[in-house]
Amino acid sequence: MIVGIDLGTTNSLIAVWEASGPRLIPNSLGDVLTPSCVSLDKDGTVLVGRAARERLQSHPDMSAAVFKRFMGSDKVIRLGKRDFRPEELSALILRSLKEDAEAALGQPVTEAIVTVPAYFSDAQRKATRVAGQLAGLKVERLLNEPTAAALAYGIHLRGSETRFLVFDLGGGTFDVSVLDLFEGVMEVRASAGDNFLGGEDFVSLLVEQFFESAKVPARLKKDAQFMQRLGAQVEGAKRALSEMPSATIHVSAADSDFSMVLDEAGLERACAPLLARLREPVERAMRDASLSSAELDNIVLAGGATRMPVVRRLVARMFGRFPATDINPDEVVALGAAVQAGLKMKDKALEEVVMTDVAPYSLGIETSKQLGNDQYSNGHFDPIIERNAIVPVSRVKTYHPIREHQRFLEINVFQGEARMAKDNILLGKLEIELPRAPGVECGVDVRFTYDVNGLLEVEATIQKTQQTHALHITGNPGVLTEDEIAQRFEALSALKIHPRAQMENRTLLARAERLYQQLRGPLRESLGDHIMRFERVLDEQELRRIATAAPAFEAMLDEYDSEKFINPPEPLR
Ligand code: AMP
Repeated sequence: MIVGIDLGTTNSLIAVWEASGPRLIPNSLGDVLTPSCVSLDKDGTVLVGRAARERLQSHPDMSAAVFKRFMGSDKVIRLGKRDFRPEELSALILRSLKEDAEAALGQPVTEAIVTVPAYFSDAQRKATRVAGQLAGLKVERLLNEPTAAALAYGIHLRGSETRFLVFDLGGGTFDVSVLDLFEGVMEVRASAGDNFLGGEDFVSLLVEQFFESAKVPARLKKDAQFMQRLGAQVEGAKRALSEMPSATIHVSAADSDFSMVLDEAGLERACAPLLARLREPVERAMRDASLSSAELDNIVLAGGATRMPVVRRLVARMFGRFPATDINPDEVVALGAAVQAGLKMKDKALEEVVMTDVAPYSLGIETSKQLGNDQYSNGHFDPIIERNAIVPVSRVKTYHPIREHQRFLEINVFQGEARMAKDNILLGKLEIELPRAPGVECGVDVRFTYDVNGLLEVEATIQKTQQTHALHITGNPGVLTEDEIAQRFEALSALKIHPRAQMENRTLLARAERLYQQLRGPLRESLGDHIMRFERVLDEQELRRIATAAPAFEAMLDEYDSEKFINPPEPLR
């Protein structure tokens, strides 16, 4: 069984392909969205999802979120006394989703299609594949998120001819793809994006704005709990503005209270620099696809941040029409991953569907350009595969050493569109030894092969000797070696994971702890009593009592969480 997984910056989802179409699988709490958050309990047990998200506020030093942003880098994230790499934290999310699917399907799940932002680099993609390995999942295919969204959207239209654009703004990344659907062939014409632009950036700017407007002392930026609480409040207000005209952000510190009213105009003003950055990738994708907006039949929105009315208005202005609204932007990517799983499993219902994708960025090497006789200008980027080439693609170019009797040729591999290599992303360095011969005889064929997963292989052949170096990209600290992966797999397997059966009550307790820290005075005291009593009921392990106590405890937390709450309810008996 192959599953489809959307491993998101903010939320992750898992789906399967069934005869009737793709289906999302809920987690142990019954939700299809699992927050991409990980937390360690005091005894080192791992919590994933909503409970971990609650603990971001109550136990910020033991909890992590938004780590997808660091995939492919060598950043470590410390939870308590333990360091984790981003792919390890992602692996814990994947493991939790895998268990949810296994519980729902009643069979082991060992293979997955995992989606990645189209604009993810080689190192980020490799890290995602490693995250799968660490979770005990073979990643059958890395699928670009907008391509997945297009598959989910296009699967019902496969008999027709249509041209559409996917505008995918998630928690941390932005991707645009332009697609053509014709006689069952779905072709990505062009993709563009920004790996560091998403809903979380709107929150960061609004947090800055709050510090200024509510005159919050700058020293509170160092208070992790305050910052987490403020972040959660801003997130809530940002979401509320998708439904109502204004929202209040209110946070208290030890000795004072701070608040600010946010409305649509305020949000648009504070986030203007981000809204401006959404234009460039759209324009580039349209230009690369040689299309004008009038030639598009539809705009498909994906990613939770496209729920923001400011974003929808911007899209409407850019294209002169409103985007499709019958698609759930949170779910469309995971559903598309499940369609791809169906294609992989060669499901009969999908026989006539063919999908082609592109490399969204150019790939090449650093070269020197001859200016005059013996003069060179160094550091130029020479693309070997141009962006938006249909994948898989393999291209070769020949290079010569610039100095006579040069013994080594260094091949620095880059990704990007800038003229100078240093302004692009360095993917890795390779060095090959040249034969002892005059420079003109030392031609080296450099072959780039970019596969359907968006992973790059580089091969260099010395023409004179026909010696081929199958070169592995090394020197990228963001990519783990096979040995390191094996070691980390062992270490992760040794971690204790909270049992699924207890997750619901564990999540309630995590939420109660978070609320306890937010409240003060008698309210806090009374909540403390409730928590103690609920813990006692759980300790007794009498399922019937737990079954009645848990909903009552949850209803009470709902009241504490609501702004209307004035008088504390009676404690549980
Ligand atoms: P994703 O990575 O697709 O799960 O997108 C998550 C992002 O969407 C986060 O930054 C959320 O704040 C944002 N988001 C989700 N729902 C809403 C909503 N109703 N209004 C505004 N932003 C939302």
